Amino acid sequence: MRTLEHFIGGRRTPAGSTRRSPVFDPAIGQIQAEVLLAEGADVDTAVAAAAEAFDSWSQSSLSARTKVLFSFRELVNAHQGALADLICSEHGKVRLDALGEVQRGLEVIEFACGIPQLLKGEYSDQVSTGVDVFSYRQPLGVVAGITPFNFPVMVPMWMYPIAIACGNTFILKPSERDPSPSLLVAELWQQAGLPDGVFNVLQGDAPAVEALCRHDGVAAVSFVGSTPIARRVHEWATAAGKRVQALGGAKNHAVVLPDAAPEFAGAHVSAAAFGSAGERCMAISAAVVVGNSGDDFVAALTERAAKIRVGPGRDEASDMGPVITEAARTRIVGYVERAAESGARVALDGRDLAIAGHEDGFFVGPTILDEVTPDMEVYRDEIFGPVLSVLRAADVDEATALINANPYGNGTAIFTGSGEAARRFHRGVKVGMIGVNVPIPVPMAYYSFGGWKDSLFGERRIHGSEGVGFYTRQKVITERWPRPAGTSHAPYHFPTAE
Ligand code: NAD
Repeated sequence: MRTLEHFIGGRRTPAGSTRRSPVFDPAIGQIQAEVLLAEGADVDTAVAAAAEAFDSWSQSSLSARTKVLFSFRELVNAHQGALADLICSEHGKVRLDALGEVQRGLEVIEFACGIPQLLKGEYSDQVSTGVDVFSYRQPLGVVAGITPFNFPVMVPMWMYPIAIACGNTFILKPSERDPSPSLLVAELWQQAGLPDGVFNVLQGDAPAVEALCRHDGVAAVSFVGSTPIARRVHEWATAAGKRVQALGGAKNHAVVLPDAAPEFAGAHVSAAAFGSAGERCMAISAAVVVGNSGDDFVAALTERAAKIRVGPGRDEASDMGPVITEAARTRIVGYVERAAESGARVALDGRDLAIAGHEDGFFVGPTILDEVTPDMEVYRDEIFGPVLSVLRAADVDEATALINANPYGNGTAIFTGSGEAARRFHRGVKVGMIGVNVPIPVPMAYYSFGGWKDSLFGERRIHGSEGVGFYTRQKVITERWPRPAGTSHAPYHFPTAE
């Protein structure tokens, strides 16, 4: 059995870890490797390596850092296929989807290649007679990134290219479900010329996360995962005096107005609900149909979703792969069963799907639940699987109120031909990322990503200019260079500009 180790201080190492966790191939339901799980002492080892590297990396010139970033960009670009294969193998998503995630991560590296422009300070000449003021940003130190299983390449890339470009050193704690892509990334950084210890991979689960959040040597924590863990990470890290951004789960609604083109809305809602088996934090998991066109929309949607080809991610004919674990499959099917018992109509049923030749794979077919009401468990909870709930609303304001009453606020979309309705919707809805006729409105790397309410704890969103702000501290210098022979007025009252 292969063992997946840590990558600390420039080399793969077992450190002192003895605990292990299985890594499955979800398409066949078999264990393919074991990943080590860090203990407290391993966290100390990783923090010590990153702290040592910080001394010189934080002092390296912008030119030197940019050079490494550009080389890393080229290497990731050249290894897109290899990264996608690892994602397919451990996560299970289809290869084109995996390539898409690598591409979106690459865009953050490209953004970070422009770090000299992004780190420019401010300068004010002569704010008082003979006095100038300027500001610049400095890195924080060792920063930790803790990431979920569903985007094993893209989500870590939301964090470390910017953190490292800003002069920090980084400890990535990837999901224990799909740890291999991060090890390849560590090797690519090394080939790009990044000094040892600047980028480290610490494999692990809950104890490693808690130890990182409480460690005196860690200056900041970026977390992406489910809401209960995001809330906990935020509490641990803030109690330890750290900067923290903790992105949580989601319940993303698509509002379909009567003037939306039915084919267009049906196709896009289906793709957004069932792409990646619904295991996306921006997946649409609730469709809110406005007015009397609900039955027609559900019929068009169901016809579309029934044609989705479910199969192993590495098979080019597949549109949708398995879910991550057998436990996830059981949990998702349980939600559908209880929803049916509580009155939802199962318009499309993926519970008993079996894939020939892959009978032990963790497959659930696309499932559509109609006549869902806001009090149902299937609507209230994040399912994180290929299950779409359909609800009805009288008008766009009622749909907006429904979304605003939901504790999550990650993403949402409206399908309409009316600019007036779309504007009312995006101004009124309490959600961080909104699409107008765009079902998965993931912001580009040069904007920032993050939701509202229980989808984000901490005030800084991820990547874009907020990422640069998160990974740096600003200094403001007030400076005077008196003439050697000059006299200076030194008042005892509080200094004001003259
Ligand atoms: P998760 O919360 O179970 O795990 C996330 C990370 O936390 C992993 O590294 C895991 O090892 C660690 N972890 C798990 N349990 C822990 C515990 N008890 N204490 C400390 N650490 C723990 O999430 P997941 O199942 O890997 O990923 C799916 C979730 O992530 C969904 O809720 C999804 O919406 C969310 N997500 C959110 C975004 C976003 O941008 N808001 C993006 C991707 C995924």
